[in-house]
Amino acid sequence: MSLNMNKIISIIGSTGSIGTQSIEVARKHNIIIYALAAHSNYELLAKQCIENNVKIACIYKEEFADNLNELLAGKGIKVLTGMEGLCEIASDGKSGMLLNSVVGMVGLLPTLKAISAGKDIALANKETLVAGGELVMKLAKEKNVKIYPVDSEHSAIFQCLQGNKRSQLKKILLTASGGPFFGKTESELENVSIEQALNHPNWRMGNKITIDSATLMNKGLEFIEAKWLFDLEPEQIEIIVHRQSVVHSAVEYADNSVIAQLGCPDMKIPIQYALLYPERMECDCKPLSLTDYGTLTFEKPDHKTFRCLAACISAIKKGGAYPCMVNGANEEAVKYFLDGKIGFTEIGRLVESVLEEFEYHEVGSYEDVIKWDNRARDNVKEQILKTTDKIL
Ligand code: NDP
Ligand code: MG
Repeated sequence: MSLNMNKIISIIGSTGSIGTQSIEVARKHNIIIYALAAHSNYELLAKQCIENNVKIACIYKEEFADNLNELLAGKGIKVLTGMEGLCEIASDGKSGMLLNSVVGMVGLLPTLKAISAGKDIALANKETLVAGGELVMKLAKEKNVKIYPVDSEHSAIFQCLQGNKRSQLKKILLTASGGPFFGKTESELENVSIEQALNHPNWRMGNKITIDSATLMNKGLEFIEAKWLFDLEPEQIEIIVHRQSVVHSAVEYADNSVIAQLGCPDMKIPIQYALLYPERMECDCKPLSLTDYGTLTFEKPDHKTFRCLAACISAIKKGGAYPCMVNGANEEAVKYFLDGKIGFTEIGRLVESVLEEFEYHEVGSYEDVIKWDNRARDNVKEQILKTTDKIL
């Protein structure tokens, strides 16, 4: 009998880069998929549901519910919509784990619902921990729920913690590829195109995270994500630019020994580790040949050019609603950039500006997170309107 015969998971964000790879990993290891959810890609969602004999499908955008129902007619699959649908999937007791691979802080409420229902989480959706890290970690502790990181760096750190004492951890080394614009100055980046920003050297990912990788916002979000996942002080996190994306991150212990996790850049490894923990089974990815690489390089990040990175570190040091606000501002700014409405370097300025525009506010509830997220988004819209006025 297969090791995972009785493992049942649900995936929200199943049609994306992480979602589709997660389905492949689950199928390879005979994990049962109970429910799937997507935003608007009802065609792929329907195909995934039929192929995997899924029981519940959720399409966030209600306007596609009829299309989805049509494609699933006669299959005995329940169709849900909106945030309610996501939350129903998250809290349905028939699956034991929620793999959250939606993009954006919209994944926060389903995560909280799944934890409340006592389900373990495989978390790719980093914005969830950036916006509501304190709430998520507190609830997970209360409910004795495990959060398995899917993000490759955090999976690496999690792997480096196995068999060692957490109390003897000195710091973590969070590696960053540096994105397509490493080594450039801010003025050289003023006119980069959407296509250039979407051209990541090592990873094929969804558009939002690819832009985040180009601005280094992604590393800033991961800095905050690591703080919450591993209960670290910001001073215990060192970011190192490592262009080859082979060393996925490392942990330094009290004896100055550094333990790292290495592998080819392939998300199937961290996805599989989160789904099969603590097992290590065959994975459909290339084995690592260090001699093919020959040289691995390590450099310091440029906080001046990549303002998003500095803004995230500053936000988590200040605490309160600041991490939630830098995330909200970034989500909004990236949308405007991808729509061709603002330039690339504008993203960093807009993210940074919430640190100056807003005073310190506590975040004690989900409603607080939504409130400060909205305020940050409004602030971005107002600023863009002002500059557009100037141009006109
Ligand atoms: P994609 O853009 O490829 O996919 C996003 C997925 O989320 C799609 O299935 C999309 O549906 C779905 N989605 C978006 N909004 C909603 C919503 N409101 N309700 C339901 N589903 C929704 O993103 P990625 O897979 O690249 O990234 C997903 C998350 O994982 C992000 O947080 C990212 O930062 C993180 N991550 C990604 C990595 C990667 O290699 N891609 C690596 C590490 C972390 P639809 O297709 O219908 O739009
Ligand atoms: Mg990552």
